[in-house]
Amino acid sequence: MTAQRPILYLDWNATAPLRPEARAAMLAVLDAPGNPSSVHGAGRKARDGVERARAEVAALVGAASERLVFTSGGTEANALGLRAVSEGVDALLVSAIEHDAVMQTARAGTVPVEIWPVTPQGVADLDWLSVRLGRGDRVAAALMLANNETGVIQPVAAAAALLHATDGRLHVDAVQAAGKMAVDMTALGADTLALSAHKLGGPQGAGALAFAAPVRPVPLWRGGGQEQGLRPGTENVAAIVGFGAAAGAALATLPEATRQSAGRDAAAARLKAAGARILGEDALRLPNTLCLAVPGWPSDRQVMWLDLGGIQVSAGAACSSGKVRPSPVLEAMGEGALAPFALRASGGHATEIAHWSAFADLWLDGYARVSARQRTEVA
Ligand code: PLP
Repeated sequence: MTAQRPILYLDWNATAPLRPEARAAMLAVLDAPGNPSSVHGAGRKARDGVERARAEVAALVGAASERLVFTSGGTEANALGLRAVSEGVDALLVSAIEHDAVMQTARAGTVPVEIWPVTPQGVADLDWLSVRLGRGDRVAAALMLANNETGVIQPVAAAAALLHATDGRLHVDAVQAAGKMAVDMTALGADTLALSAHKLGGPQGAGALAFAAPVRPVPLWRGGGQEQGLRPGTENVAAIVGFGAAAGAALATLPEATRQSAGRDAAAARLKAAGARILGEDALRLPNTLCLAVPGWPSDRQVMWLDLGGIQVSAGAACSSGKVRPSPVLEAMGEGALAPFALRASGGHATEIAHWSAFADLWLDGYARVSARQRTEVA
């Protein structure tokens, strides 16, 4: 019998493994349920858990806990934030590389959307923003802090300064950045900032929106007075408490998370030497994300080859409901031709240099076979 290779998970940007701290906190809540709105002991205990979590999540991003509401995830937090900054504006400028949670929500709204272009490195173009703001109308903008596909970090603080100088507002999707780099909402100048628990080791189906004065979110629906009436409905206490524990642990393991770039860059150098292109390579990037492409070896085949060898990564394309379509992010960077061949590997605080090197070994082995086959076909 051949020994089974251990599974190596390098798809943390899709979802991060649940942190033990989050699991333990959630199990404790599931075993002792209470409604945070109830005045009895069980209710008060649930309320304490929710408020402790709120403080922990707020601390991760330098937000004020009284200005942070829990949601069902990053998608809802983005919708709530976009609606808040869009109140009374003439146009909504949306960076071309935003996640569908932002892009599709913006397009479905009533405010006219304008696409804010990015440079070939995948960085939002600040010159374009300056020129656009010169028109003098009142605008809001959406700019993510780090891109989910390339890991490219966006010039959020500079964009916020430009927008605020013209009475504009900025919504920031920090779903991929939080827990992988230091995030300070005040220093960034974000008016609203969206987070998702499962990208930093909390459970799926929990998120949060932090908002700065004087922005006041408008609830997406009506109901009870939970979450200051901004997000009505009985709180998902277990998920929220798990989110809080994960945020606390993420803050504590930030040094490990930021050290990821050593393994990632060593792997990237080997892939590059074999002919792969590294997307966003010259921009500031999250330390954990590697987006590469090599013409001739389609993304889905790369994913399958790696999966068969026990390494789990993503195609570098927007994927939902099992359908893969070319990445609008790479298209926006002028790399649309590479999109069918793009691959994303993403680690986390527990990923070791040896894991990145195992990924490079297997990828190089697969690519050597594909190249050899192509050479035979041509001959
Ligand atoms: N924003 C970004 C940048 C993401 O990567 C994701 C998830 O992939 C989301 C928003 C949506 O978050 P959630 O899955 O919690 O709804």
